[in-house]
Amino acid sequence: MAELPDKRTAFIDWYLAVVEAANLTDKRYGVKGMNVWTPYGFLARRHLDAVLVREIEATGSQPVEFPTLIPANEFAKEKEHIKGFDAEVFWVTKGGLSDLDVPLVLRPTSETAIYPVFALWVRSHRDLPLNVYQIVNVFRYETKTTRPFLRVREIHFFEEHTCQVDEAAATDRVRSNLGAFRKMAEAFALPYLSVRRPDWDKFPGAFYSVAFDIPVGGARTLQIGSVHHYRDNFSGPYGIRYETADGGQQLAHQTTFGLSERLLGAVVAVHGDEKGVVFPSAIAPYEVVIVPILSAQAGDAPLTAARALHARLKESGRRVHLDAGDERPGAKFYRWELQGVPLRLDVGRREAEARSATAVDRLGRKSQVGFDSVERDVAERLADFDRTLFERAQVAFREAFSVARSLDDLPRSERVRLVGWCGREECGHRIETAIEGALLGIPEEELPIEVGPVADCVACGGTEGVRWALAGRPI
Ligand SMILES: [Zn+2]
Repeated sequence: MAELPDKRTAFIDWYLAVVEAANLTDKRYGVKGMNVWTPYGFLARRHLDAVLVREIEATGSQPVEFPTLIPANEFAKEKEHIKGFDAEVFWVTKGGLSDLDVPLVLRPTSETAIYPVFALWVRSHRDLPLNVYQIVNVFRYETKTTRPFLRVREIHFFEEHTCQVDEAAATDRVRSNLGAFRKMAEAFALPYLSVRRPDWDKFPGAFYSVAFDIPVGGARTLQIGSVHHYRDNFSGPYGIRYETADGGQQLAHQTTFGLSERLLGAVVAVHGDEKGVVFPSAIAPYEVVIVPILSAQAGDAPLTAARALHARLKESGRRVHLDAGDERPGAKFYRWELQGVPLRLDVGRREAEARSATAVDRLGRKSQVGFDSVERDVAERLADFDRTLFERAQVAFREAFSVARSLDDLPRSERVRLVGWCGREECGHRIETAIEGALLGIPEEELPIEVGPVADCVACGGTEGVRWALAGRPI
């Protein structure tokens, strides 16, 4: 098997090679940017979705599913929104052989599909808050280079849409979403920064946008999700209004929360290494793989023991796979490392006799797991693996940032930069030109590194209203 490219020096090559070698997706489909989910990749996606569902439903959101096609007249109602997506949508203009009276848009996101119906559902203050989410595919005509999970034309998408009584309640919903995402990211062992986007880079039609950014491959950044406060920017054009307790009429204030298969790409990008993918146990297709080490001297004992362990772990609810094929053990070890299985249990003659399997986690740490305590021991090893994986990611996360004190300091950056910024758009664009990337915005939380008080704007030298901002090159 060929070696993977070096992750440090050739990040994108490494990423593409590892996604392919681990068989998470098949990109040989006949439409660019529309990939096939393989069984292994699909399982990872299903477990990832389960975390999203668990955490969003814990905050009182309910599942819905809206149709894929949106009438052009509904799509065009919010002006900024249509402007933001106009160049990115696929159109359906024919039904059979005839041109459609009203052309249809393949949803690039579902505001304009959902809000005409919200206008029917929301009547009284008693109907609020209305918090619903869906996990569906959305479509964007991506003209840049496509990359599996990171930039695709058919996107596996999670979107929450809510209606609240007023701006303050919508702000509370944004906070609640930020809290839910904290828990989701913990399950994926992903450190990230919540960043309020500058006005010129917010979601089309939003009052403000908070995005989640992670550093990947040097000075590159990846947006792995976002939360938006819409105020009444959409409820106005779509007529989502309700009767207040004292009989008045009021427009709802709205929020959205969007995530996608990029999260899977982020897991690959952040945790993967020279051997392949590394899955945190929450989303690993298999948490445990058992490999019996067969030999003439060992007889049936390893396979019998491996089968018994498999049955017990399965019974206890673990996602476990018994690899009893006739490949050499070395080839099996190689493949399961490549595919990122958190924990492997090897059972040879010695292990069968001692009634103790050799456990090797995906970070390369070995230990013994007693046959009689396999459920408890495996639970402990997986918890320790997840904890260590998260700690390792947090160390790398902090090392990925540094401060830039001048514009000249930006172009050669190997890291994501923190810069003083006065908040003026003109200065923001000068910073973007210097780093050949984006001014991502103002972090909403504690900075990842100790930087001290901010002094002056890196672009104009001004001191008024200066705050630390994040600048990087989005991937
Ligand atoms: Zn400035």
